[in-house]
Amino acid sequence: DRLVAAPPQQGEQQVDHAIRPRRLDDYIGQPRVREQLDIFISAARKRGDSLDHTLVFGPPGLGKTTLANIIAAEMEVDIKSTSGPVLERAGDLAAMLTNLQPGDVLFIDEIHRLPAAVEEVLYPAMEDFQLDIMIGDGPAARSIKLDLPRFTLVGATTRAGLLTSPLRDRFGIVQRLEFYAIDELTEIVTRSARLLDVPADVAGAREIARRARGTPRIANRLLRRVRDFAEVKGNGSVDVSIADQALNMLNVDSHGLDHMDRRLLLAMIEKFDGGPVGVDSLAAAISEERDTIEDVIEPYLIQQGFMMRTARGRVVTRSAYSHFGIVPSEQAPR
Ligand code: ADP
Repeated sequence: DRLVAAPPQQGEQQVDHAIRPRRLDDYIGQPRVREQLDIFISAARKRGDSLDHTLVFGPPGLGKTTLANIIAAEMEVDIKSTSGPVLERAGDLAAMLTNLQPGDVLFIDEIHRLPAAVEEVLYPAMEDFQLDIMIGDGPAARSIKLDLPRFTLVGATTRAGLLTSPLRDRFGIVQRLEFYAIDELTEIVTRSARLLDVPADVAGAREIARRARGTPRIANRLLRRVRDFAEVKGNGSVDVSIADQALNMLNVDSHGLDHMDRRLLLAMIEKFDGGPVGVDSLAAAISEERDTIEDVIEPYLIQQGFMMRTARGRVVTRSAYSHFGIVPSEQAPR
């Protein structure tokens, strides 16, 4: 049971609904993204036009879905949401597209997982607002063309590099979300605590922020677990000592690394002498999917300077050794 990087869970959705920022002004951090979108949205609105198709990429939990919803709210249009793996056939996408009202946002999460045949229907839809699709098969098959209303596609993906270039090239706006700074996460935790009626002081909020892997979803999740702990073991309010005890109990260490992070780094140190090691060998060594390593686990470890990607494979850094109090062997090949 992975607390830190697990996808959203049942029940979490409702709480999430209460704390998810609705407008650009409530969206904390990501100053560059906010500033640019603010300009693009104002300009589109002034022209009475729809916003250009927008691609948002970054690790899970950084606020891609939130941003898609904010774009729709700021443009004062509706949003229809789906995801790459759900759109199995061209007809599934056609059904979504023909359901759009002028100006609407169509949000496709995990857009890199669209099947190729579906992606091909998306090209003319994005470019010319045209639906061009084959129906039936064999001699009875025919192609139909339909005009679509102007709409804004917002696509989300964990890594921009996963998209085919024809798809990537059709986005007019591309925004990359970064891991959040501790001050920003402190603000997010403080805001969520207020909305959830959890008394929390700044030091307590900061302790949660420090250990949230740079990720708002994790910060909010940790806040809820710390609140439980505070209600049972304390007087219900979150301070630094309660936060620290709760997070230790949850096995989130002082850097916010969880069980899987530590397993990955320790495997590199103990089984591969610090690397370089290929991601497939690592995946096998810790029985984890390669995609999970690349999308979920390693981006934060790389950002924090615990490991690096090199042409020859992954390598741990000195910080990783010192995090575990291990002395690197001098003979270790580098
Ligand atoms: P993603 O789609 O990138 O996986 P989400 O948009 O679902 O991430 O964000 C996860 C949760 O984190 C949101 O429900 C929201 O409560 C919170 N969150 C994300 N970004 C921000 C932000 N910039 N400010 C405040 N809260 C945020």
